[in-house]
Amino acid sequence: MARKFFVGGNWKCNGTTEEVKKIVTTLNEAEVPSEDVVEVVVSPPFVFLTFVKSLLRSDFHVAAQNCWVRKGGAFTGEIRYRFIICSFFTAHDFDLLSVVYLAVNFMFFSLNSAEMLVNLSIPWVIIGHSERRALLNESNEFVGDKVAYALSQGLKVIACIGETLEERESGSTMAVVAAQTKAIAGKVTNWDNVVLAYEPVWAIGTGKVATPAQAQEVHCELRKWLHENVGGDIAASTRIIYGGSVNGANCKELAAQPDVDGFLVGGASLKPEFVDIIKAAT
Ligand code: PGA
Repeated sequence: MARKFFVGGNWKCNGTTEEVKKIVTTLNEAEVPSEDVVEVVVSPPFVFLTFVKSLLRSDFHVAAQNCWVRKGGAFTGEIRYRFIICSFFTAHDFDLLSVVYLAVNFMFFSLNSAEMLVNLSIPWVIIGHSERRALLNESNEFVGDKVAYALSQGLKVIACIGETLEERESGSTMAVVAAQTKAIAGKVTNWDNVVLAYEPVWAIGTGKVATPAQAQEVHCELRKWLHENVGGDIAASTRIIYGGSVNGANCKELAAQPDVDGFLVGGASLKPEFVDIIKAAT
């Protein structure tokens, strides 16, 4: 089954309004293969999502870098409409209004960021990036729950997995990525809206890209894992993309691997060479 090439740009926590405009202008002016050939998704920081969406060419799409695991409750730091309103009342110290706010909030504003993304017509979300797993202690189970919740709200998910250098050197790469995939697969009923991003932690932001053979080996094993544990059709149709120090110079060789269906690009997605990476689709 043909799998459409997928190129995601993960901007991480980078950018000013001016820088964002510059990146988007470069993308908008680029001549790239058509949407039938390559699916391009850029993921700016949350605060720039709608700004980027409003400027970006219509054949490219936008992804958030995270969303919360369920609806409702107190999740300080997650992005919700309620906090904008809450800050207003807190700043003005109006107790009576705070009570009214809470009532209104429960009636109308208990959206968490997954619902908010859908509401803003942001179609994609990255979940389980290794930076969140490592820095924010997101466990395999938590990542699986977030993937399931995002899908249930109608989002499409770039689900990230990958081993550390220590895990690779101890020979447990496949065991680690299989456990991460299992925690996701156990909660996914429809794989149409899932892209699996294999991102070895040792390759992220280090300039130390996996060799095409290393990437192919893991992607092939992952596809086998999907075949055995989820199903043949899903294994054949699910896109498995590679992330970790992809750039304009190494993308072609990686893209030529039969089980590499695209990329999740960090640093190079902020530069004009992202266009070359998109072109690696052909
Ligand atoms: P990198 O990041 O391309 O800068 O290595 C990839 C990622 O974190 O998704």
